[in-house]
Amino acid sequence: MIPNKELEDMKVIGLTGGIGSGKSTVSRMLRCLGAKVIDADSIAREVVEVGRPALDEIKTTFGEDYILPSGELDRKKLGSLVFGNKDKLDQLNGITHPRIMKEIASQIDQFKDDDRYRCVVVDCALLFEMKMEDLVEETWLVSLERKAQMERIMNRDQMTQEEAENRINAQMALSDKEKRASRIIDNSREVSRTHEQVLELWHDVVLNQES
Ligand code: ATP
Repeated sequence: MIPNKELEDMKVIGLTGGIGSGKSTVSRMLRCLGAKVIDADSIAREVVEVGRPALDEIKTTFGEDYILPSGELDRKKLGSLVFGNKDKLDQLNGITHPRIMKEIASQIDQFKDDDRYRCVVVDCALLFEMKMEDLVEETWLVSLERKAQMERIMNRDQMTQEEAENRINAQMALSDKEKRASRIIDNSREVSRTHEQVLELWHDVVLNQES
């Protein structure tokens, strides 16, 4: 019997990109095509929920001031503390990143053998920064021209030009991410143009029918 190429092997893809680059937009497209999307942002929120060990560690490290009366993490306050302070950010990442990675690895394992899905996609803004390449088979970068990135985040997050610039400059440059990525999705233009690229990648990589 000739094996069905489409069903041969489940792919695990890491989807990444800078702030406002279009990761959620591309994730939605991939979900519609049949991917299981693991959202690193949701996992990052879950690991610091009340009752989780990471929250206790944050309390011990940074103090009660960063805990709301409800017992939850005061993300805004902690965010202001670590933004622009590398030592504090490293300390926080040291608490959260290993737990986020462990949970992502466990979810990949869980969904990898689930035949309802064609592939597993890890949507993670900090995929390269967290050195998560080894958890996935390919990395897809959603990239875009800086002008489009600025306009979109200013619009979406009601930011000034200066705020948008600071946020973009605080991240690893998209040009550096481009050097590391297996594939690049250019989301500078209309969503329909991005959709065409996603369909092509799906055909080539997930359905394994690269010509
Ligand atoms: P973040 O990581 O910052 O949450 P993201 O990478 O997930 O962002 P999206 O939320 O998908 O990015 O997109 C950022 C904004 O740009 C959204 O408001 C979205 O609707 C818009 N957007 C995405 N792609 C396009 C496009 N091709 N043309 C116009 N607007 C777009």
